[in-house]
Amino acid sequence: MEDERPIVVMLGPPGAGKGTQAELLSKKLGLDHVATGDLLREELAQNTPLGQLAKSYMERGELVPDDVVAQMVAGRLSGDRGAVLDGFPRNLNQAHILDRLLSERGLKVTLAVEFVIAEEVLVRRLSARYLCSECQASYNMVTNPPKAQGICDRCGGSLYQRVDDQPDTVRKRLQVYREQTEPVVAYYRERGLLRTVDADRPIEAVSETLSAIVADPA
Ligand code: AMP
Repeated sequence: MEDERPIVVMLGPPGAGKGTQAELLSKKLGLDHVATGDLLREELAQNTPLGQLAKSYMERGELVPDDVVAQMVAGRLSGDRGAVLDGFPRNLNQAHILDRLLSERGLKVTLAVEFVIAEEVLVRRLSARYLCSECQASYNMVTNPPKAQGICDRCGGSLYQRVDDQPDTVRKRLQVYREQTEPVVAYYRERGLLRTVDADRPIEAVSETLSAIVADPA
């Protein structure tokens, strides 16, 4: 029965829509949603030692050290059901760490999905992105605005813009993606686990494609 717990890795540059889709997919299938960026932002908001350590890396658009992130992920992989991993692994070392964490729980990556989208679209998307300070729901002021300005539809929390969504930091994050995360895409492709989706489409359309892939990954 172990093999029936899906472990889906979401790969793609910042702003490609991984977080939105990971949330929809995990709800639909009853899977854990492990989003390392969200977890790190929670640590930051609570000013924990981990948050203090992560802050400067995140503000510069660089990766937080692997051991820190790996420890956080280990605590969130229950192993009771499958999971959607969003923002992890971000480099090859993390991909190896993930394989080890999963095998310790009798699990393995069952599918990796690469969100494909042009860089100029990403810079535009990220500059219009606002997040809820309470529940981390994500909005786009142009394509997916909240019903009331500055207020989260879901929980009533106030919306804010991420400091690392400024154009300069976005460019750094894109560079980090190309240099460190694209090899992870190749890693899963070589193992026959990779599927790609065109991420430059409305949320519902991407979600439908993703569900179809998960239902029939072959
Ligand atoms: P995200 O919300 O996924 O765009 O992540 C925001 C920031 O958190 C990144 O730019 C990194 O600084 C940090 N971060 C998130 N996930 C990871 C990871 N797997 N490894 C290292 N740093 C990460």
